[in-house]
Amino acid sequence: MGQKTSKKTVDTQDTAGKETLGFQTEVRQLLQLMIHSLYSNKEIFLRELISNASDANDKLRFAALASPELLKVDPELKIQIGYDGKSRTISVSDNGIGMSRQELIDNIGTIAKSGTAEFFERMTGDERKDARLIGQFGVGFYSAFIVADRVVVESRRAGQAENQGVRWESEGKGEYTIESISRSERGTRITLHLKKAEKEFTDPHRLRTLIRKYSDHIGFPVLLSDLEKPGDEPQAVNSATALWTRPRTEIDDDEYKEFYKHLSHDFADPLAWSHNRVEGKREYTSLLYIPANAPFDLWNREAPRGLKLYVQRVFIMDQAEQFLPLYLRFVKGVLDSADLPLNVSRELLQQDSRLEAIRAALTRRVIDMLDKMAKKNAEDYEKFWAAFGQVLKEGLVEDSKNRDKLARLLRFSSTHSESDKQDQSLSDYLSRMAAGQERIYYLLGDSHATVSASPHIEQLKKKGIEVLLLSDRIDPWLVDHLKEFDGKPLHDVGRGELELPDGEGNISPQSMPDEHKPLLEKMQKVLQERVEAVNVSARLVDSAACVVAGEQDLAPQLRRILEASGQKLPESKPVLELNISHPLVERLAAETDEKRFTDLCNIVLDHALLAEGTPLQNPATYVRRMNALLLDIGKESSD
Ligand code: ADP
Repeated sequence: MGQKTSKKTVDTQDTAGKETLGFQTEVRQLLQLMIHSLYSNKEIFLRELISNASDANDKLRFAALASPELLKVDPELKIQIGYDGKSRTISVSDNGIGMSRQELIDNIGTIAKSGTAEFFERMTGDERKDARLIGQFGVGFYSAFIVADRVVVESRRAGQAENQGVRWESEGKGEYTIESISRSERGTRITLHLKKAEKEFTDPHRLRTLIRKYSDHIGFPVLLSDLEKPGDEPQAVNSATALWTRPRTEIDDDEYKEFYKHLSHDFADPLAWSHNRVEGKREYTSLLYIPANAPFDLWNREAPRGLKLYVQRVFIMDQAEQFLPLYLRFVKGVLDSADLPLNVSRELLQQDSRLEAIRAALTRRVIDMLDKMAKKNAEDYEKFWAAFGQVLKEGLVEDSKNRDKLARLLRFSSTHSESDKQDQSLSDYLSRMAAGQERIYYLLGDSHATVSASPHIEQLKKKGIEVLLLSDRIDPWLVDHLKEFDGKPLHDVGRGELELPDGEGNISPQSMPDEHKPLLEKMQKVLQERVEAVNVSARLVDSAACVVAGEQDLAPQLRRILEASGQKLPESKPVLELNISHPLVERLAAETDEKRFTDLCNIVLDHALLAEGTPLQNPATYVRRMNALLLDIGKESSD
């Protein structure tokens, strides 16, 4: 683009309908945050604007499949970057799809992603932390305001008349103006009036290096021109070949990383990628990335997700979610198919039988990529697991075909872990199993603190038998679907009878020592409304009692989650287990006062429930009983 065209647009007569509008609150917050927290990364604005320009060209090429006349005039899609040292401006132009007045208002004055307001509430003002958060959100057009104190967008939607152009202008504070203009070129030009301190960006050498870095992988030519010398030929800066179409051996890591950032608007490097060309019955190229950080809307299962779909190098759609299962929603990438029809739509994709095979192959690719990372780069895998482990667990529930492979990717916290870190694999667990141990023990609970201090694992801990400590929300479902690993069944130590590998301490109601029977029977009578049975426990060392669920009952965590979501579930009573070597049991046996015995039994049960994280159904009764007991103690000591 030369200066001539630039002047023509600015000098337009048609300024009808100039309006001043306010940014949506979240946009204002985003702008402030960008400017402050991304300052040390300021040159990324160029990547973002080039990415948007490339997307706009892609979208026009797609629209032209159905309406070829859109590309009749000015058919060579390109991106032009101009600089003007004197007026301290740079501009990024595309001749792509463009925006109408309403689209400009909708796209650049508002953010439509759901959950945005909540996301911004989490901002702290701590620059380093917030820079990471903004990465999760995705940087975009607004990054222009890191270096510019005024940004002008001029655009004309493809297919609209010259006088249907629109001009948007803002200082990035709280407002913008929008007016109709006449614009001869199709597409969008963004002009940045650079802040005084950012003059370096009009230096052609600096610009050339940056543009090369940010645009070499883009399939459109990027041309650089000096706006002060309108007669000069613009110079081509990039190789204009889409990255995934090039042979793997010719692409270096930095190029892969840059392409990821272009694709995802993330500014952190990805953890891993996998680039493959498949030939034969189905022909396609895929380039899949594992990000390092979770996006802010990872838990919104409705949030847009999926790959960027191309057919024979023509962009077809963003977020084609049909090519990967929901539990791999964190994967970013491109799929370029040689044999899907160019007019493929989301609806057609849903019915296309070719899809199933591609989806299965891509799923395997991601799993293999993760497997490789887990084996070769434990540090990266740890990062991956911290960001996406809980999502991957959904795969164990949803994808029975890949269950075994996925099980190898799981990481748990266990009694072997140092902290609450999820750092143990099931294979690690198997390698540490005790002689004669046939089961993989686990305990479910609401928090790591509850499970790691739970009475249920005292005996196992004492014997040095590892227990997996499961406190993620999805874990009850996970163990419901993962019944065994490498032939070893998983066993919940919070339910049913506990069998220890050495047989020692295995006590069933039948093998219970006779001397304790009268006490247990008496307790059972007192507690019959609240418990299924009272048994002697094989689990306990230090605690007096614990409750366990019946073999067929729902795990208490699962019950609480389901009840919280409004489901009505049939009542089920737990089994109370007693530690017969605990002094409290002796105390119970010696109690002659009926009322006090009743109170004590209930308190022992209430404590067992509290220890596993089950809220008391009648806390006031518990408090009354406790108070009576405390008063008794007071009386005894003053007697
Ligand atoms: P993102 O690109 O992540 O969606 P941006 O804030 O960068 O976020 O852009 C918001 C929207 O504005 C884009 O999705 C696109 O619809 C529109 N947009 C931005 N730049 C252009 C452009 N050069 N041409 C056409 N549309 C654009």
